[in-house]
Amino acid sequence: MSSTLTSTFRKQTRGSVDLVVKNAKLLLESGIARGGIGVTDGIIVVIASDEHLPEAGTIIDAAGKILMPGLIDAHAHIHDPKMLDHETFTTGSKAAVAGGVTTFVDMPLTNQVDTVNVVEEKIVQGEEMSVADFTFYAGMMNSENHVAIPLLVEKGIAAFKAFTCEPYQTTTGVIVKCLSAVSESGGHLTVHAEDQGILDEFRTEMEDDWDAPISHSLARPNIAEQLAIQQNINIAEQTGGHLHIAHVTTREGVQEVEKGKIRGVMVTTEVCPHHLVFYRDDMNRLGPKSKMNPPLRTKEDRAALWSALLRGGIDMVVSDHAPSPVEKKDAGSEDIREAWSGVDGIQMILRVLLSEGINKSRMTFARLLRVCSRNPARIFGLYPKKGVLRIGADADFVILDQIKEEKITADMMESKCGWTLYEGMTMRGVPVMTFIRGTQVYNEGAVIAKPGHGKFQEMGSGERPIGD
Ligand SMILES: [Zn+2]
Repeated sequence: MSSTLTSTFRKQTRGSVDLVVKNAKLLLESGIARGGIGVTDGIIVVIASDEHLPEAGTIIDAAGKILMPGLIDAHAHIHDPKMLDHETFTTGSKAAVAGGVTTFVDMPLTNQVDTVNVVEEKIVQGEEMSVADFTFYAGMMNSENHVAIPLLVEKGIAAFKAFTCEPYQTTTGVIVKCLSAVSESGGHLTVHAEDQGILDEFRTEMEDDWDAPISHSLARPNIAEQLAIQQNINIAEQTGGHLHIAHVTTREGVQEVEKGKIRGVMVTTEVCPHHLVFYRDDMNRLGPKSKMNPPLRTKEDRAALWSALLRGGIDMVVSDHAPSPVEKKDAGSEDIREAWSGVDGIQMILRVLLSEGINKSRMTFARLLRVCSRNPARIFGLYPKKGVLRIGADADFVILDQIKEEKITADMMESKCGWTLYEGMTMRGVPVMTFIRGTQVYNEGAVIAKPGHGKFQEMGSGERPIGD
């Protein structure tokens, strides 16, 4: 069965290293190395083989387990001050650290975050309530607020969210202006890309079939995603702004992103764990809980997402964590249109990639490191402070048990929503300890840090050109 990490505590009266973790397999940018790390004042100060590690106030024996940089979840809807029945900085960040996520990028849910005042308030709330480090998106972008982009970038809020479709649809003109503004100020524009005209037409066609959950997916055809992605990539090419395509779900969408990258357009993209695990036919079995936007697609689309993730066409895995109270899901049991769109995910990214990627021999640890930690940090300007095990970096890391099996239940979820789309699934590979700036925040099923441990992180312009 599973082995337990043993911790030994040795008090040192002298010596400058606070914490040493030894006997680990370190996931470094150069590959896997055996040894450990030393931490002082929350910063990695030593990376060495066990015999060269210094004495320290606290020594943890990782018992041969993998030690990797904490995950950076670059898309999570965690704290909307008017929707605290969904999730809060506290509950959402507890779910984060229980999934090995050490920094998350919060995205607005329904209420606007688009002025310096709202941003400053949100930083204060986050630093009072969050267990994990965080930064956030401004949005949703519209014809009025795009002028605030340079000012917000200066405040360290460098990522902006726009929609080509409902419920926060903006115009193509606004997207041109936003991409021009981020090009000049060193920010990032993330677009939810589905063509509203196509969605309108197919929604009408589905008129009698809304009792079947699968209708939600059939009413949003792949071409809607493909065309919107294509158009936004053309705008990015013209303006030179960094375009990040949110949650790509289709084979055609991935192809458009990869074509853009080949032409040298500053375009990146992300995929969500639910689109890597489930597919369209699961919707009638899972019911309204499986409703999200963009929806679950076909098995062929799911396979295309995996291939693109493994070859670098998709840059990162993000949760798009946006669960609701269960009543808002159950509201769609007769008519799927009535259900809330959004699922849990922040606690599941690493579990899904270990179970479906590493343990099915699809994914290497080098790729895992890139898509979970290194790429999001580099692309959103948090690197090398975050996203890497390196001397001088923040000591944000997770120790994981690659072979331990776990049955996923709502009970183990830290999220406020109290349910999980992954209920009853057995997964192989478990995060067992999470550390943020050298402080242990999670230990085998228990969040042990207090709200207020999390610190706001300024986002930068990222690395350009953005490459894998
Ligand atoms: Zn989202």
